[in-house]
Amino acid sequence: MSVRVRFAPSPTGSLHVGNALTAVANRTFADAHAGTLVLRIDDTDASRSVAGGEEAILDDLAWLVVAFDEGPVRQSGRGPLYAEAAERALTSGVAARDADGAIRLSGTAGTTLLRADGSATYQLASVVDDLDLRITHVLRGSDHRPNVEIQQAIARAVGGELPDVIHHGLVLGPDGKKLSKRHGHSSISELRDAGFPAAAVRAYLDELDLPAHDVHLDLPRLRRLAVDAIAAMGDEELAAAAGASVEAAPVLRGARTLVEARAYAGLVLAPQPVELPSDSALTLDRFVELRAAAAERLAAEEARALVRELKAVGGDLRALRLALTGAPTGPELAALLVALPRAEALARATRPR
Ligand code: GLU
Repeated sequence: MSVRVRFAPSPTGSLHVGNALTAVANRTFADAHAGTLVLRIDDTDASRSVAGGEEAILDDLAWLVVAFDEGPVRQSGRGPLYAEAAERALTSGVAARDADGAIRLSGTAGTTLLRADGSATYQLASVVDDLDLRITHVLRGSDHRPNVEIQQAIARAVGGELPDVIHHGLVLGPDGKKLSKRHGHSSISELRDAGFPAAAVRAYLDELDLPAHDVHLDLPRLRRLAVDAIAAMGDEELAAAAGASVEAAPVLRGARTLVEARAYAGLVLAPQPVELPSDSALTLDRFVELRAAAAERLAAEEARALVRELKAVGGDLRALRLALTGAPTGPELAALLVALPRAEALARATRPR
């Protein structure tokens, strides 16, 4: 029997890091068994559906390069299937219709299958879909562990067997508390906005694999993976990610996040206005002399030589950086000199002081 797994988020917007872990784990499991991953959207609960929520999830999955083979299958379109299953449980006598019209499982603490308005509960919909979509393994967060017994009872009530269920530990905040907005890095969109490259986030989730126990979000590890991911990017890719031209790539190399890379690119494209210290004239005059005599574009070694020369005569490199970018810190000075054509470098070094 070929392996079929599903990733079943509610459409509440960008994926929680723990949910993204579930998605990656399902993809990895499917790949390891030459199986199929179905994307199911659990949108029966209108109060948990957010406008644009499904699109945000699809964007996150594409960003993380988690492909799915079937779906999205939306629960909102499958009401009749759930009603039919509830009727089956009713007919076989394992469920009963209550005075309020709802259909409940007899025995197991009266678990509701179908609400009085005819809508299916998460428990019923999830089980019916896992059976109907011929899911062989359910991989999900351990917060769903308490549902297993109920779902097994429902599966038997509607005439099936629940797939094998494997729970993984949750991703908690660095402080060990439930990871939430308060932590600032709780969703994929927050990580993306903070400038973590997709490859770094994916590598982190791959590393976590299927944690048996809860884990704490390891931001230092994520930051190291971001540096690795930026180092692994080609010039074109890095420049595109930072919204800069490919000539600026060397300047972006030292950035630790894509947000920082974009800030560096901004300094190359348009320096900040700046007030230069009065004693910077000597350094800048010497720079103008050296730069004017050199080529339109400096090679990396030429740029480093120029910086060394300025340093040797006691030049104030911080003043030069300020003049060229308007910022006191930023990309490596020599890389900046490579990125700036001669006329631009001279114009910045001779800004009114
Ligand atoms: N929609 C549920 C969730 O997002 C799915 C739970 C399950 O995988 O069974 O938590």
